[in-house]
Amino acid sequence: MNIKQVPAHSNNYEKGRRGKTIKWIIMHWIVGTLQSADATFKNPTRIASAHFGIGQNEIHQYVNEGDTAYHSGNFDVNLQSIGLEHEGGPNLPITDNVYKQSAELVAYLCKKYSIPFDRVHIRKHGEIKPTQCPGTLDIDKVIKMAKELNEPQIDYKSLYEATVKEKNDLWKDKDNLLRVNREIKQTLSDIIKNLKTE
Ligand SMILES: [Zn+2]
Repeated sequence: MNIKQVPAHSNNYEKGRRGKTIKWIIMHWIVGTLQSADATFKNPTRIASAHFGIGQNEIHQYVNEGDTAYHSGNFDVNLQSIGLEHEGGPNLPITDNVYKQSAELVAYLCKKYSIPFDRVHIRKHGEIKPTQCPGTLDIDKVIKMAKELNEPQIDYKSLYEATVKEKNDLWKDKDNLLRVNREIKQTLSDIIKNLKTE
């Protein structure tokens, strides 16, 4: 993950979180490029910001996670959330690169702040207030990708070795079974022989 610090103007966020903790991640789209988000959040008259913006090859951090960005239109939600902007708009389709980086960032933030990977805690801006934002961004896809990144990697070498051992144990058992089977047959034939001679 390539995160570059691009601080927002101090008018556009509040220092600290007034004692609140981070509970949610709120997803936005820029309706433009990452560079247009950079310009907006640097502008002292906008009174708007997000913590991160996701572009094609890099992520910009505008506001520290410990500070309150003005992104959701609801101050109480802002105090308890991290806002993520994504490069995209009606004429700017959201690319695989943006999805990939979004998933990496969401996985990182969920782990860092113990936020569950679900739709209760990762929400669209439009679920906080009436807005089209985040447009065509498929947040279920981001959550699915982030979850996969967070899953422990399978140790194929150990799995292979365990499988080979289990197979060998089964073969040992098979030899045992064949031996027991032979012994039973022998015993039966001995009994039959005895019956005949009586
Ligand atoms: Zn938004």
